[in-house]
Amino acid sequence: MSYIKGLKCRECGRVYPKEPLYVCEYCFGPLEVDYDYEKIKKKLTRKIIECRPKNMWRHKELLPIDGEPTDGLNTGFTPLIRAKNLEKVLGVKELYLKDDSVNHPTLSFKDRVVAVALSKAKEFGFDTVACASTGNLANSVAAQAAVAGLKRYIFIPADLELGKIIGTLIYNPILVAVEGNYDQVNRLCSEIATKYKWAFVNINIRPYYAEGSKTFAYEIAEQLGWHAPKHIIVPCAGGSLITKIWKGLKELYKLGLIDKLDTKVYAAQAKGCAPIITAVKENSEIIKPVKPNTIAKSLAIGNPADGIYAVSTVKESGGWAEEVSDEEIVEAIKLLAKSEGVFTETAGGVTLGVTKKLITQGKIPRDESIVVCITGNGLKTQEAVAEKIGKPIKIKPTLTSFEENIKI
Ligand SMILES: *Cc1c(COP(=O)(O)O)cnc(C)c1O
Repeated sequence: MSYIKGLKCRECGRVYPKEPLYVCEYCFGPLEVDYDYEKIKKKLTRKIIECRPKNMWRHKELLPIDGEPTDGLNTGFTPLIRAKNLEKVLGVKELYLKDDSVNHPTLSFKDRVVAVALSKAKEFGFDTVACASTGNLANSVAAQAAVAGLKRYIFIPADLELGKIIGTLIYNPILVAVEGNYDQVNRLCSEIATKYKWAFVNINIRPYYAEGSKTFAYEIAEQLGWHAPKHIIVPCAGGSLITKIWKGLKELYKLGLIDKLDTKVYAAQAKGCAPIITAVKENSEIIKPVKPNTIAKSLAIGNPADGIYAVSTVKESGGWAEEVSDEEIVEAIKLLAKSEGVFTETAGGVTLGVTKKLITQGKIPRDESIVVCITGNGLKTQEAVAEKIGKPIKIKPTLTSFEENIKI
């Protein structure tokens, strides 16, 4: 049974059929999936969701596929960790980490969006998928399309971290390293997408793909006992995840699955690529594109497709936005590892670094519930910290050498 009515333009509201379309022909606004919420409300209860397998498809009525899901059957339902040690360090009462650094199969939140995109691409009859990626999307499309038996073309900026490149090549896709930044890769892919009949997960399938991010928010609310947190800090690249987390929470409220929604949503970016943060701080309706220069490469999108919606999410929810330097990113990665045993990639360093700043500034009060979104795994961006965590102590295989070299 389908709960999708079709697509709808976010700007002018014009409706379109369920097809691989993504921009409005009249106003060039982005298209979004339009659900039949009345029908969903009759079907979906907390109990039904709780009885389902612990994966991202527990809320399948709120995801844009018509049949049963075929991909990502082990994706999602990642841990929500009560971070007791970090609470002490930061001086706050109730802090959680939503930890997608252990997501299946490729250790980032992108596994969620790709699962939806591939399930949908198959419903549309595509045999080839493609993407423009800052790294994690490349990993996930390569892995999941391999399992699905789809042809896969993946486009990345040539200067990505080795972990992201190896973590893509291992699944044997056609990997194209473009000499340019992500925004140039994306522009090229938009041209390719008009010429070849491929499912570009974040271009012509984008309205469907992006919906997968909502599951991140659904899970947080369920894991908090069907409550939304007071504050949630989200890393931003193209601005899709933050927009969809907010949409997901609003849907839960509309469907009566949570009783109250007074969550403030905060955007986090690196100083070297902070077009969304700048727009929030300048109270601007437009995003000024920047040329990225940061170690947080997974967030290095200088011209974010959903930037204006990220800004309106922050404003509508009453949140705020903040940026951190590369040094602060590394410090936050180290802090998270030594306090909570979670090794996150640079994006997680951005999120925690920004959280720390917002608490210090008094923007986030110390006695209310806070969720920090950890979206990727540190093993993929080892070069960011390699020179900043000391070295192992070398000894000979003797007790004397041990005692000479190690102070107990
Ligand atoms: C892609 C990505 C994000 C942000 O994604 P957008 O939806 O483009 O804002 C956050 N964290 C990580 C690790 C990512 O790979």
